[in-house]
Amino acid sequence: MIVYTVKGGKYFPVAESFANDAETLRGIYINLTNRCNNDCVFCLRDKKVMAAEKSLWLDEEPTVDDVKAELNAVPFHLVKEIVFCGFGEPTIRLAELTEILRYVKKIQPNISTRLNTNGLGELEHGRDISADFKNILDVASISLNAATAERYLKITRSKFGIQAYAAMFTFAEHMKKTVPQVVMTIVDKVTPPDEISACKKICAEHGVTLRIRPYENS
Ligand code: SF4
Repeated sequence: MIVYTVKGGKYFPVAESFANDAETLRGIYINLTNRCNNDCVFCLRDKKVMAAEKSLWLDEEPTVDDVKAELNAVPFHLVKEIVFCGFGEPTIRLAELTEILRYVKKIQPNISTRLNTNGLGELEHGRDISADFKNILDVASISLNAATAERYLKITRSKFGIQAYAAMFTFAEHMKKTVPQVVMTIVDKVTPPDEISACKKICAEHGVTLRIRPYENS
């Protein structure tokens, strides 16, 4: 599935979602890749049931035109938000991601756009990528996961090693200059209460809002 909706923790192709319910406002999700530079211990990509259903698993990465074609069939009067999410890390496909964001803002300038990311796009591309999102992204939601670099690495098993944690905060600080809302998130079931408190403190120090979200893929 490339463009999909979520209801009750399940994923639906947009056509099926709107055919079954043509009244409710909902978010539209865009799935660009299975690839990720992390290997989180809780990642849904590892869950056998998800692999069997292959609901979000992409046998082939979609082209920009593939995504545009699916977006063109969406009844946007029923859409409140467009979210880049999925099984992998969207910023790995930075050029395609920003091209689609530009397209969304061109055809639907009033619909909010959100990027769910692990915040490691700058390490992936070796530069400050925040300017790429100027005027096309409304919300950047970054998975914080932990209160220390060591614990972060243990959970995420990032290919970038111990530097990943600090780089994620640098990315957040850069994004605050170009994106209206930057939030960091932690997952409730995998984060102990004392770590949640420590995460709140760290986010306050960096001037970033912390959101505690239910267990799901980032
Ligand atoms: S949970 Fe998100 S950041 Fe972690 S490995 Fe899966 S896709 Fe990557």
